[in-house]
Amino acid sequence: MAEAARIDGKGFADALRARIAGHAGEFVQATGRKPGLAVVLVGEDPASQVYVGAKARACHEAGIASFEHRLPAETSEAELLVLVERLNRDPEVDGILVQMPLPNGLDEQAVIAAIDPGKDVDGFHVINAGRLSVGQEGFVPCTPLGCMMLLKDRLGDLSGLDAVVIGRSNIVGKPMAQLLTDANATVTIAHSRTKNLPDVVRRADIVVAAVGRPEMVRGDWIKPGATVIDVGINRLPPTDDKPKGRLVGDVAFTEAAAVAGAITPVPGGVGPMTIAVLLRNTLVAAHAHAGLEAPEGL
Ligand code: NDP
Repeated sequence: MAEAARIDGKGFADALRARIAGHAGEFVQATGRKPGLAVVLVGEDPASQVYVGAKARACHEAGIASFEHRLPAETSEAELLVLVERLNRDPEVDGILVQMPLPNGLDEQAVIAAIDPGKDVDGFHVINAGRLSVGQEGFVPCTPLGCMMLLKDRLGDLSGLDAVVIGRSNIVGKPMAQLLTDANATVTIAHSRTKNLPDVVRRADIVVAAVGRPEMVRGDWIKPGATVIDVGINRLPPTDDKPKGRLVGDVAFTEAAAVAGAITPVPGGVGPMTIAVLLRNTLVAAHAHAGLEAPEGL
């Protein structure tokens, strides 16, 4: 059997970002201001600092104003809520992203609940989760929406396909399963208590792995020809030739690529889509705030 096609998330994300930049330019002409994203980082978690920096750069390149708020780890919940409230009222701010995880002692759910659902471009607010579950328009979390874009681009109509989502988190697994259901796939959600996981995965035409366990999904779990979306980002311990440690997904890539029809690499697959969709959601929010129709084809 031929090697699986690589699903080029990086290329897809670059093209989406270029379209967003074009629409952001038109938005400035129509309204006299840029779409704006406020990113709030509390504390000094190194991975979060990298993500926040990448988000600010991506905004800049797309013509979206980025407002960064870096707060010390000792920030109280009350102080953080005051900032969120201020950003909710700020007419320059269309999207608000509070980088997770928050330092111990800060209640993530309380902070998410304080964000105006119309500015919740991460799609984490219960109002947006509820809208997704009942099929109303709202903000959908960036990573699963990005996965869905890649799947539709690759497969077109997903009707009747068997999909297995491994992982049931609020930010990836659950919304992913909802999006696949809405696209008429037949969906199984697997998790740490699932029995015979390899057999469950073997049934799937579409596998989405969002577990956080390096290379857990083996090649012999994959149905020949299946489409595999690997959300996992895991850093392996440093070695002599990779002093920073190699990045791997939740899927054993080489084994799975020998069986699958198509597969996302790590890095370069789902990761770049997450940021591109964040920009997309911010652009959509800006149009709503300006009373304009969101651009088509995003
Ligand atoms: P969570 O830790 O919130 O959820 C992990 C899920 O995996 C849980 O539902 C858990 O089950 C399940 N799980 C754990 N162990 C097993 C097992 N042995 N067998 C089956 N299921 C298992 O993670 P996230 O959803 O936040 O993230 C998942 C991965 O995706 C991580 O590697 C993360 O880094 C990556 N990620 C990547 C993004 C990107 O931009 N590409 C964005 C977000 C996340 P249970 O519920 O039973 O505990």
